[in-house]
Amino acid sequence: MPRPSARRGRDTENPSGGTRPRHQYWIQKLGYRRVVLIDAHQHLGDCRVFDLDVPEETVLAAAEKHGLDHVLVMPFPGAGDAAAVHDRIAALTESTAGRVRGIVCLNPHQDRAAYAAEAERCVTKLGFVALKLHTLGHAVEPASADGMAVFAEAARLGVPVIVHTGGAGEPFASPSHVLPAATQWPQLPIVLAHAGMGVAAREAALVAGVCPNVYLETSWCGTLDTALLAETIGPHRMMLGSDGARNLGVEIAKHRALDLSRGDMSLCLGGTAAKVFRL
Ligand SMILES: [Zn+2]
Repeated sequence: MPRPSARRGRDTENPSGGTRPRHQYWIQKLGYRRVVLIDAHQHLGDCRVFDLDVPEETVLAAAEKHGLDHVLVMPFPGAGDAAAVHDRIAALTESTAGRVRGIVCLNPHQDRAAYAAEAERCVTKLGFVALKLHTLGHAVEPASADGMAVFAEAARLGVPVIVHTGGAGEPFASPSHVLPAATQWPQLPIVLAHAGMGVAAREAALVAGVCPNVYLETSWCGTLDTALLAETIGPHRMMLGSDGARNLGVEIAKHRALDLSRGDMSLCLGGTAAKVFRL
């Protein structure tokens, strides 16, 4: 196959300009890029729980390298000052003309009014698109009083909730623990981050199978688990996520390895997220 020239690879849809990487050119040429490319899960700033610190440059460089149309960014659960990170994300939204959008990530084990005030500020004033419930990082059982308050707040604000699932966070992170909220608010989109993270992928599929308002963000899910989710639940309920810039290329490659149809690939890489988060 001929190599695309740098000129043909220019990304004219990219609001911040830049050059589309080669694999993006071929995604477009093969028809996969019919909707948008969206990373539904990244973090910015410091994290005293996981001992990390991600600067703005890392988020922006990954968006540029992989040709993302949108990247959804949230503070880590261990942020020293989550509201300050929300402000940094809002500044990125402004400087990238909406390529970066925010997700609220706050500790629910705090005064309800304070939680609600910051969540409302982010959604109504800063254009944030969802609330994050971090079962592991904030030690929150989704069906507990503090956990259910997050879903209630999201329903009030009219935005989805993205919930950390799988891995070391279980049992709080068990996908089935969102069932009380998913059934109490059947119109509220609930995104299972990591879709059970491999070991609990089948459990995530069971939950999505009985709750049409449950969606699956598949970062850290193995290739075969992700294929299982595509077969049982379907790409219209699945979305790309990286959980970190360095993992983004792997997650894109994983979806390309599934041999999905062009339309299904398009849903996984951005179509489903665009619909759920109204991007
Ligand atoms: Zn994460």
